[in-house]
Amino acid sequence: MNIHEYQAKAILKNNGVTIQEGIAVSSPSEAVDAAKKLQEQTGTRWWVIKAQIHAGGRGKGGGVKLAKSLEEVETITSQMIGMNLVTHQTGPKGKTVHKVLVAQDVYYPGSSNRLEFYMSILLNRKTGKNIVMYSPDGGVDIEEVAATNPERIFREEIGIACGLMPFQSRRIAFNLGLSGAVAKEMVTFVENLYKAYLAADATLVEVNPVLKTTDDKILAVDAKVNLDDNALFRHPEFVPLRDLSEEDPAETEATKNNLNFVKLDGNVGCMVNGAGLAMATMDIIKLSGGEPANFLDVGGGANAKTVEAGLKIILSDQNVKAILINIFGGIVRCDRVANGVVEAYRNLGNINVPIIARLQGTNAIEGKEVIDNSGLKVYSAISLQEAADLVKKLV
Ligand code: GDP
Ligand code: MG
Repeated sequence: MNIHEYQAKAILKNNGVTIQEGIAVSSPSEAVDAAKKLQEQTGTRWWVIKAQIHAGGRGKGGGVKLAKSLEEVETITSQMIGMNLVTHQTGPKGKTVHKVLVAQDVYYPGSSNRLEFYMSILLNRKTGKNIVMYSPDGGVDIEEVAATNPERIFREEIGIACGLMPFQSRRIAFNLGLSGAVAKEMVTFVENLYKAYLAADATLVEVNPVLKTTDDKILAVDAKVNLDDNALFRHPEFVPLRDLSEEDPAETEATKNNLNFVKLDGNVGCMVNGAGLAMATMDIIKLSGGEPANFLDVGGGANAKTVEAGLKIILSDQNVKAILINIFGGIVRCDRVANGVVEAYRNLGNINVPIIARLQGTNAIEGKEVIDNSGLKVYSAISLQEAADLVKKLV
């Protein structure tokens, strides 16, 4: 699950990570109140207004702006809320901004150098260990650093038994070019960031930039936290953080109905029971000249209700020219699935795209009879080859 910067920063702060302070708001008047409050709390002179969308690269896209007065806080906020923000991570369609974070300005002048670092914590699947990945070249796209100066990206593998060791955090501070008191600040920062990663059951914590201010504070200026969906049951407090306006409506609908759904760009919708069969079905669609419009696994219980929910989701996609239902009757009986298909079809009313139902397994012949006798525009097949030929003919 993805969350916004302001929510990610709250999780980090709860675990002792020092952050650029801010208040999330959804109107210009709230922004002015927030700016005043921040000034009282932090003594900040200026503010940054940051668009809250589930995508990075906001700075370059015009989603991060400095405000030097309360009037500017108000005008920038009113321009930003409701705007369609396009960044290299949103795709050309962009994302609508509903909230902004009014944050303290932490790029103030001072006696020492200001530095921007990159830091993330994630699982290295090859070794099965968590790693801290970091670079002295922060503030820019890390992909760019990886392409041009890969030697400037460092990794610290964390042992499963012993956890992040003090010498490792010190090595990180050293590799970032820090020494003295500010190196100690960095050690604490890294330790707390790792604590946050573990405590939240995150799959990723990424802070770009980590800022060394001109008065030698270490702050998380940006924050991206991805939460593990499979661990959400341990974190009821995170459930409300979900922002449905940021998600694909078809995928949201699928989650509500316990369907595993991923939207793709093709023209043949598919509904399958079992993830492996779904992958194989997508291959068949491609081999017969079509392109899969989605991945959809209805799971073990392929009944009228799940079939109907699945069909509805697939039909909401204008690109879909045909639908292939591929169900293996192992525990579930094919005639029951067939009745489900017919019932769902009748409930949904006018369906303009051809449906091919390939039902194989227990009671496959009975299932085919149900489809053939229904009088509906559903083509039945038992073998995969028959189904593939039908897809080829109909698309
Ligand atoms: P991203 O572009 O979506 O990654 O958003 P970030 O939160 O990383 O901010 C982008 C850029 O805005 C940073 O790299 C900074 O250059 C700038 N920025 C962020 N906070 C401040 C601030 O407090 N003051 C100033 N002057 N600039 C800031
Ligand atoms: Mg950033």
